[in-house]
Formats: sequence, C-alpha cells, structure tokens
Amino acid sequence: MGLVKSIVKWARIKSPWLLHFNTGACNACDIEIIAALTPYYDIERFGIQLKASPRHADVLVCSGPVTRQVKDRLVRIYEQMPEPKFVIAMGTCACSGGAFQGCYNVLGGIDTVLPVTAYIPGCPASPAALIDGIVKLLRSLQGSAPVGPVTQQVPQMPENPEEEAEEPAETA
Ligand code: SF4
Repeated sequence: MGLVKSIVKWARIKSPWLLHFNTGACNACDIEIIAALTPYYDIERFGIQLKASPRHADVLVCSGPVTRQVKDRLVRIYEQMPEPKFVIAMGTCACSGGAFQGCYNVLGGIDTVLPVTAYIPGCPASPAALIDGIVKLLRSLQGSAPVGPVTQQVPQMPENPEEEAEEPAETA
C-alpha cells in the first residue's frame, strides 16, 4: 500500500464523520444518538463528529424503518456521500423493521434499500451500543479483511432474574 493510501486510511479511521438520518423512527433512537454526542458519552474522543452534509460524511447512521415516503430521499443522501462509505442501522427498526414491520407504509429495515455495514439492535439502541458498533466498524476497517456486516450483541437477560441474583451476604 502506498504512503498516500496509508495516510488516507489512518485519517479515515481516526476521524470518521457521521451523518444521522431518521428514516421513520419513533425518535427514541434519535435521542440516544444525540446522547452519544453529549459530553457524558463523549463520542468525539474517537474523532467522531456529526456532520450536516452527506458530502462530508463517511458513515450514515440510520434510525427507524424505511418508509415509502423516505426511501427516495435516503437513496439520494447515500449517493451524495463520497466513497468509501458505510451505513449503520441503529435500533431494531433500522435492523429489521422492528415494531413497524408489516405496516402499509413501511418497506422494512435499512438493508431493504442500502447495504448495511453495522447492525446495532435494541429498542432503543443505547449510546454505549452505538459506540461499540462504531468501534467494531473501525476495527474491521483497520484489518485487511473486507468490511462485512458487523453486529453488536445485546446482553441477554436471565429468564428468572430472581434465581440468578446472588444470595445476600449473611450478617452476624
Ligand atoms: S427501535 Fe424502538 S426506539 Fe428505535 S425507532 Fe424503533 S421503536 Fe423507536
């Protein structure tokens, strides 16, 4: 790999710029994305910045299912992004259609329209899950392996939390 390509790759990994697009979400996933940008989660420590223009963005973060109304706009925004570009599906609706699957106005998850690089499940998906998904995406960019779908795992709740809970320590 040439020096210029190495520098471009290094810069891309160190400063991925995001564009957020609500394709039909209930707004809860959007609030979580905004929370990830606040100083509490401080997503900018990874060099990640939110951008207003698709022409400046590397990663398109989509929340919600794809509605018929928004489909053409989503494709247009994606086409305006420079290569290489990546798409993150944020939340269960973006991953599969979620609670809106089967509605007359819903086409399905983001991957019914665009190639998705990272799936981040959850309803809503948490800021920590978004950060984890982005870090996994960046790791796959760092490696020599081609970028494939990255799935962020949601921790499973025990079937009976009371049985799983630790016994309280006995007091004398
Ligand atoms: S995954 Fe849940 S929180 Fe996110 S847009 Fe869908 S219904 Fe709303």
